[in-house]
Amino acid sequence: MIGRFMQNTLITWPSIRRPYSCGDKKVTLIPGDGIGPEISAAVQKIFTAAEVPIEWDVVDVTPVRRPDGKFGIPQAAIDSVNTNKIGLKGPLMTPVGKGHQSLNLALRKEFNLYANVRPCRSLAGYKTLYDNVDVVTIRENTEGEYSGIEHEVVDGVVQSIKLITAKASTRIAKYAFKYAQNNNRKKVTVVHKANIMRMSDGLFLRCVRDVAQDYPKIQFDERYLDTVCLSMANSPEKFDVLVMPNLYGDILSDLCAGLVGGLGLTPSANMGQNGALFESVHGTAPDIAGKDLANPTALLLSAVMMLRHLNLLSHANIIERAALDTIKEGQHLTGDLGGQAKCSEFTDAICVKILAGRMPVAQTTFF
Ligand code: NAD
Repeated sequence: MIGRFMQNTLITWPSIRRPYSCGDKKVTLIPGDGIGPEISAAVQKIFTAAEVPIEWDVVDVTPVRRPDGKFGIPQAAIDSVNTNKIGLKGPLMTPVGKGHQSLNLALRKEFNLYANVRPCRSLAGYKTLYDNVDVVTIRENTEGEYSGIEHEVVDGVVQSIKLITAKASTRIAKYAFKYAQNNNRKKVTVVHKANIMRMSDGLFLRCVRDVAQDYPKIQFDERYLDTVCLSMANSPEKFDVLVMPNLYGDILSDLCAGLVGGLGLTPSANMGQNGALFESVHGTAPDIAGKDLANPTALLLSAVMMLRHLNLLSHANIIERAALDTIKEGQHLTGDLGGQAKCSEFTDAICVKILAGRMPVAQTTFF
């Protein structure tokens, strides 16, 4: 039963028992490729155990040929995200060097999901080099080196344009400071290479500096990407919220994920003006796909972030607590965390906790 007095505390969980109804919020679910369907099924099972009042709108994003002859996301998937304005997404396979464009990129572009947010935090009970990592990378998601402007100048010479605009840089800077303010964060560090890319990163830096002036209570720090990588590996406690252009964010956020136990544990959100898509940071893991070996935590914590975005705070707290406690106890860890449990066993252990309502009440509202 959920909604019971917790041991050693006077606080109760608010009752969340509520029958599903056609009035439940619809959420687009893109199960994805490789391990995607397995970990998506795990999240759905856990949501059912916690009686989360949402309805899944499951869509397929396998590329289809469009009227212009190019391959792209099926219209039904686009319509679903446009209607629901919120989605959960498993990993998608991207062909290397040929075939269709990255669907991850296409989704971000299609829905203008301009901010990629990745919280990385040391998890109690899962031993890593440091136990005090607590950082959030906020990555500009629409331009930089990933703007897709590439061409061959002459045979054997290609150019790839790094696009930086004041508009997108200011928008991501505002997002980062607002995020810091809303989440009681103390410091924002802008990560750049304006010493080398004076114009592009220089513009990005100036935009962030301008926005920082509007937030005098939040400490502001400027660092070069290379020194951040070194410091992050040596003393991650120096960092709090970090904001940066697209490519740097892609790389640095994986470094941060490595510090807290790897990609299997790291959630993310892609936020836009009119929608949000939550996804695990890892890929399709083809080496373990279909074997019931995947760790669903990253997608589950992404789903927890989604619940907080939907203001379903009790459900988010309950699911997060159950997942973190299952990891802490260490009896049902998946292979990537050094255990032997199957994905389904780990999932069931979380469901049992939720159904038993045995979670300690201390709130973690991180993801
Ligand atoms: P990957 O993240 O799929 O796998 C790297 C390693 O981590 C593998 O050994 C894998 O088994 C392990 N791993 C990843 N997620 C795990 C999980 N949840 N549980 C347990 N182990 C896990 O990276 P890759 O092999 O470089 O990429 C495979 C495919 O995924 C590529 O096509 C790539 O383009 C795509 N990809 C998609 C996304 C996305 O959709 N956001 C992100 C990264 C990569």
